[in-house]
Amino acid sequence: MDFRNKRVTVMGLGSFGGQIAAIHFLANEGAREIIVTDSKPADTLTESLAQIADVPNVTLRLGGHDERDFAAGVDCVIVSPAVPKSAPMLAVARQAGVPLTSEMNLFFARCPARIVGITGSAGKSTTTAMIEAALTRGLGESAVHLGGNIGHRALLPQVHTIKPADIVVLELSSFQLEDLGELRRSPQIAVVTNITPNHLDRHGTMEEYVRCKQNILRFQTPGDTAILNAEDPALTSDAQRAGPSPAPERWDALTPGCVIWYRAEDAASVKLKVVGRHNRLNAAATLAVGRVLGVPEAAMAAALADFSALPHRLELVGESHGVRWFNDSKATTPESTLTALDAFTEEKSPMIVIVGGYDKKLKIGSLCGELARRAKAVIAIGQTGPKFADLVRTHRPSGAATGIVQVAGELKAAVRIAASFAAPGDVVLLSPAAASWGQFKNYEERGEQFRQLVKALT
Ligand code: ADP
Repeated sequence: MDFRNKRVTVMGLGSFGGQIAAIHFLANEGAREIIVTDSKPADTLTESLAQIADVPNVTLRLGGHDERDFAAGVDCVIVSPAVPKSAPMLAVARQAGVPLTSEMNLFFARCPARIVGITGSAGKSTTTAMIEAALTRGLGESAVHLGGNIGHRALLPQVHTIKPADIVVLELSSFQLEDLGELRRSPQIAVVTNITPNHLDRHGTMEEYVRCKQNILRFQTPGDTAILNAEDPALTSDAQRAGPSPAPERWDALTPGCVIWYRAEDAASVKLKVVGRHNRLNAAATLAVGRVLGVPEAAMAAALADFSALPHRLELVGESHGVRWFNDSKATTPESTLTALDAFTEEKSPMIVIVGGYDKKLKIGSLCGELARRAKAVIAIGQTGPKFADLVRTHRPSGAATGIVQVAGELKAAVRIAASFAAPGDVVLLSPAAASWGQFKNYEERGEQFRQLVKALT
């Protein structure tokens, strides 16, 4: 679509940058009027509004929507991925025949280069960052562009600087993939890390969530490549035959392109700084992408050896007196904390684990069983702290040498207690298996506080 002289509505300003990027793009394209509308009032959007303050031809409609901004006379609506498809204003636009699109769809339509798209329920950001690091090392910084969900980096305003021979690496959420279905486009190289139930509040059912995720393969063409995790039964065809499967269609049958299955062993010979089998899987996905694109093996190995964990994801934040301190504040579910426990069980390091936080009513029983079995000490914080402590105590094997359990309340106290228990060779792990709300604004703030507390100790 040519936006010159057009009236365009941007629905949902939000704070993640995608819509802000779309607004800048529309201004550069010469739109006559850009109507920016959000259900939230201006005082909750100050940071985003500051970023569009200089954009010409913007009309703000905040604190609610007006039907007229979705009706005849508007040439297009750019919808935030955060807006549910059932939003009444979208029905108004559909009724009036006003086309709906998204920032990511506009990017796909304009991008002249090959796109590597990464999705999955866990490991998207890490795998995306690893792939970017490996491709940059092998192909040069100017040839590789990183965007999508990761770091809320929207590439749309720079799309004209991307050359056909370049490579774009995009982290894609289920919401963005839902939108891509409308455009009937998939990335030329698609990576799927794993599939477990997620965002079901928005997608309704697991089937619908999987259907959206599968758009990453559905519109591939014969020259394209699908890179799939062979260790995830939700992706392999065996699981489909074994019984009722959450996948409406077989993953590998969705693409007419080449299918590459990867396993952690594929990266067995590569030295990694990041810990855990899950990261070896992410490295294996990276090697598969690099091989498809002809990146030299030595460059990939060097990039992977240098790759540090992303902030708050099993991130090493301190090391002293033989004790390593890891910030895994992003672990807001029992499953993620189990992944962290697996990483250190694998390397046989005694673990002092800090858990607990806001009560999202998640099932923590089996995690507490594993903590009782595997952790040298468990220190429980926040609203769910006492519940964690009780359950770990219940699961503790009688007469076990392990199993110090303490309720600390605040993170500061937990770090102090952990330091008093820690011996050379131990790992202290903040992996809360709970949301941070109540004590912190978000998981980033919790992780930053942990980093500062550890820094003060070491
Ligand atoms: P996402 O972007 O999908 O949320 P991240 O890369 O931010 O994923 O990692 C979040 C957490 O997911 C990590 O701390 C780790 O516990 C877990 N994780 C990362 N990679 C994998 C993987 N390949 N398989 C399973 N879990 C993983």
